[in-house]
Amino acid sequence: MAVSKMLVGGEWVASSSEATISVVSPFTGKQIGEVPKGDREDIRKAIDAAREAFDKGPWPRMPARARGDVYLKAAQLLQQRASAIAELESRNQGKTIKQAADVDIPSSIDNLVFYAGAVRTLDAKSPQEFLGDGTTIFRREPVGVVGSITPWNYPFMMAVWKIGPALVTGNTVVLKPASWTPLSTLELAKAFIDAGLPTGVLNVVTGPGEEVGNELCVNPKVDMVSLTGDTATGRKIMESASSTVKRVQLELGGKAPFVVFEDADIPAAVEGAIVGGYVNGGQDCTAATRLILHQSVREKFERGLLDRVKQIRVGDPMSRSTDLGPLVHASHQKKVLDWVETGKREGAKLRVGGAEPGGKLRAGAFVNATVFDQVAPDMKIAQHEIFGPVLDVIEFEKFDEAIDIANGVEYGLAGSVWTQNVRTAMRAANAIRFGDVWVNDHLPIGSETPHGGFKQSGFGKDLGVDSLNDYTVVKNMYIDLTGLARKGWHYTVYGDPS
Ligand code: NAD
Repeated sequence: MAVSKMLVGGEWVASSSEATISVVSPFTGKQIGEVPKGDREDIRKAIDAAREAFDKGPWPRMPARARGDVYLKAAQLLQQRASAIAELESRNQGKTIKQAADVDIPSSIDNLVFYAGAVRTLDAKSPQEFLGDGTTIFRREPVGVVGSITPWNYPFMMAVWKIGPALVTGNTVVLKPASWTPLSTLELAKAFIDAGLPTGVLNVVTGPGEEVGNELCVNPKVDMVSLTGDTATGRKIMESASSTVKRVQLELGGKAPFVVFEDADIPAAVEGAIVGGYVNGGQDCTAATRLILHQSVREKFERGLLDRVKQIRVGDPMSRSTDLGPLVHASHQKKVLDWVETGKREGAKLRVGGAEPGGKLRAGAFVNATVFDQVAPDMKIAQHEIFGPVLDVIEFEKFDEAIDIANGVEYGLAGSVWTQNVRTAMRAANAIRFGDVWVNDHLPIGSETPHGGFKQSGFGKDLGVDSLNDYTVVKNMYIDLTGLARKGWHYTVYGDPS
């Protein structure tokens, strides 16, 4: 069992109360680790350390290239430790080992390598004499102390998406991981410390959101708070951050539309729906949960879909041949199963799944791959994020109707359109209001591609050079070139023109 400490001011420490949180495997239901249950006193110490490191320490004053070098070293260490971290992630979160080892960990390491270079490309507008007698320079500077709050669905990857752009631009960070899945984040922090990150630049405090996370939002020594999490949590965070007028960056929930037009390549769309819908057990903010199908192809698509669902292999996430592991936690499993009941009550037709597999998998937090059809766009199961392996089939007749259904949710994170007609593709992709839009695929995101929501999916970007902008502020500097005591415009305040 892993007994871990948290990172505060360069020290690995227990919580001041000595309380702990037990970390459980969602596959076995058994405890696999223990982390400190940080409280307000602990998070304040971490914030003080980050403040001191920002105000007095070397990190924000280092050349971007030197910060990038620490990233490259951390990336190298993580590469050496990648398979152990992937195993830890899979055991703790329940995601399949093939996803953790082949996608989550390597793509996150690539994010760090990208940031090491990208930070050196940050440009400012060329200095100019905009105002005549002086030169104006726009400097891009770090925001300061950043509070980062991460979710449980991609623990390692989300921690990298948060601290990646924040630290490289010279900020200091206090990170709070989700309490169910803290283990891989502590490994990430270890790699940064081993790579030579100066004291206090990165702090990780494990503990409950309402106490530890909230302090990051209200503490006046924190300049910015960034959350990846539920839209309801985003609302609370905006509200608490308002008392100190903090910058806020929010990457929130989604309910992705997956629109299949009458001329789409149906076998390709079926593959896309299986992969896009059930990725990470459906615990993915971009998951293709609303299958919006033209009435002329609905039957063929659904036949293909149900056939493929039968082939999904549910089981031990540590086995390379498992496609669908357990959900993150037994209480989340219950929530997802409650959504299935809601769908049935609302009159949607359950075509497959909707229950635990039972048998040998009884101890795990499993929900079988589920498909509802005859779903109306305004049903609760079509409006709210279920965050499990549950897909809704919704039928449409006309192009405009498809667009209205796609846009008819509070979310705006990601969506895809499926058609072989370039005009339909462009018209639909332009018309749907989502931050990531794919044509004839669903999910691809990389280090270079800015990812973030429209509407109540939040604002700001993770990944890409845009994320570096979120973590920097522009300072406008003016240098007088005249050397005159009395400048030509002074008479507008007092005296007469000379
Ligand atoms: P959550 O909102 O329950 O928790 C996220 C984090 O916020 C956790 O660390 C939690 O402890 C903390 N928190 C909770 N209440 C808080 C409060 N009052 N003040 C401060 N912090 C608080 O989300 P989750 O269930 O861990 O993750 C799933 C959610 O994350 C889904 O809605 C999903 O769509 C979203 N998500 C979004 C993206 C994206 O890129 N937009 C990516 C991944 C996940």
